[in-house]
Amino acid sequence: MISEYFIKRFGLTKKGSDNLIKGIIYTALQNISFMLPVGLYSLLLYMWIEPLMGGEIVDVNLGIFIGLILIILGIIFAFSWKQYHFVYNTTYTESEKRRINLGENLRKLPLSFFENRDLADLTSTIMNDCTDLEHVFSHAIPQLVGSILSLILVSIGLFVFDWRLAIALLWVVPVAFIILMVSKKLINRGSEIVMDDLLECGDSMQECIESIRDIKSYNYENEYLSKLTGITSKIEHSRIKSELMASAGVITGKVILNLGVVSVILFGSYLIMNGQVSIYTLLVFLIASALIYNPIENGLTFLAEILMMDIKIDRSKEIENQVIDDGLKEYGLDGYDIEFKNVDFNYDDLKNVLSDINFIARQGEVTALVGPSGGGKSTVSKLAARFWDPVSGEVSLGGQNLAELDCEKLLENFSIVFQDVILFNESIMENIRVGKKDASDEEVIRAAKLAECEEFIEKLPEGYDTVIGENGELLSGGQRQRISIARALLKDANVILLDEATSFLDVENESKIQKAISTLIENKTVIIIAHRMRTVASADKVVVLDDGRVVEQGRPDDLISQDGLFKRMLDLQRLSGDWQI
Ligand code: ADP
Ligand code: MG
Repeated sequence: MISEYFIKRFGLTKKGSDNLIKGIIYTALQNISFMLPVGLYSLLLYMWIEPLMGGEIVDVNLGIFIGLILIILGIIFAFSWKQYHFVYNTTYTESEKRRINLGENLRKLPLSFFENRDLADLTSTIMNDCTDLEHVFSHAIPQLVGSILSLILVSIGLFVFDWRLAIALLWVVPVAFIILMVSKKLINRGSEIVMDDLLECGDSMQECIESIRDIKSYNYENEYLSKLTGITSKIEHSRIKSELMASAGVITGKVILNLGVVSVILFGSYLIMNGQVSIYTLLVFLIASALIYNPIENGLTFLAEILMMDIKIDRSKEIENQVIDDGLKEYGLDGYDIEFKNVDFNYDDLKNVLSDINFIARQGEVTALVGPSGGGKSTVSKLAARFWDPVSGEVSLGGQNLAELDCEKLLENFSIVFQDVILFNESIMENIRVGKKDASDEEVIRAAKLAECEEFIEKLPEGYDTVIGENGELLSGGQRQRISIARALLKDANVILLDEATSFLDVENESKIQKAISTLIENKTVIIIAHRMRTVASADKVVVLDDGRVVEQGRPDDLISQDGLFKRMLDLQRLSGDWQI
């Protein structure tokens, strides 16, 4: 039952939550074992005071005494060891799992999730929040709950010993906790403000780093720096303010706790004068007060930390609980025709990017998307691979509505080459192998040859083993595109999407690659987007997109005779000399 609460409340796994409970129990035992020396002190005191008060001299065997000390030390050690084991094991395995989970979920989320989210925000959630939560689980929660449990047990003992002094000692505890709970609102507000400012700062930093060349070349540095300085000093202020808000509650609580000692002394002296308790009892309570407040003070600090982490847990839960539209994993396809039926789409609810798109890209044919820039060609190709779902209408592959299929599974059917090639800081070999994880070196090299990569790879210092830098910065645009094409050739999927795949290539390389691609596309569904009309003219079908609408579609020859947008675009390129056969 408690276990389920932890799972829900803190987003732990079953095992993690069970371990956390064990950790808490051992923390309580550890705290209680720290109180054991009080028994020993009391015994010493008793031996010392009794004769003074006219009693008999108590004779205790030194050996027994040392034995007791050793036993107590042993107990403290054993509990501390266990506590350490459970608490830290839970913490670090849990936080590893949490990170992996978040990463996994991010991978499966629909791309639309990232469209309206901040990368800085996501990074901060995965790295910083997880680290903070680590600390909460390793220290705050076990210590807080552990000290509450041990406090209850020790209080019972003290009440039995002398209930009046116990009240004088303990009345401060509930008061301090109540004060802290009341200040929870302040604390939350404070940490929200800090979060917002941190995010803003992260964004600006990122922007600055990404655009550093422009900033420098336009001599814009001073303005930019002063903007950054403004934001960082704003963070400084909000941090100080939030810490103040948080510590106000904690400090008040601690001050009140210390009032407890005062009330024990005052009330105890009064009771002694009236002869109602012995000096001995009072001394025992004073010793207890020296030991008992320490864990409580820690508990207060930790409570503040726990209250502050709510926002962080909420943020990671938001990612974990995102509906992952898995859809069907098992499905039969009737061929690989891609059909758009009355598809409307927008990115931001404001302006329709696609309106009423209807066309079929048939298997065994090359379907070319053409039209002015911003017309929606890339968007159509992304919808075809279910990067997004249409706002209305339906995109289907082999008769299956894409919106009902599992994204990951679906993508196995696609070889995609987009304008913006993503390369990893690894060897060329591994970068091509991304297309098919289990491909042999020979397969990779064959694909690289087909994609005309061989020629430039040979010139690299270490050939296929050359590491190509962050996002392939050591390569030219055309080389990057060829690697990306090699990937697609290697994957050899049933549907091929080429979005300006050859735009950075010169005409000679382009026609070579065209040849390679044409061997690849037999009996496959190919959607191609290209600037150069000569690439398009050999297509089986052309779909002309203008301002998000299909304005013409059909065989290239038919369209030329229709004298529409396609014909005009062809004529323009012929004039500019880019059109040669
Ligand atoms: P094309 O590939 O024909 O140049 P796109 O499909 O890239 O056209 O873009 C179509 C329209 O959608 C453009 O107005 C563009 O600004 C907008 N657009 C493209 N991608 C996004 C995006 N990720 N978020 C918001 N708007 C976008
Ligand atoms: Mg485009």
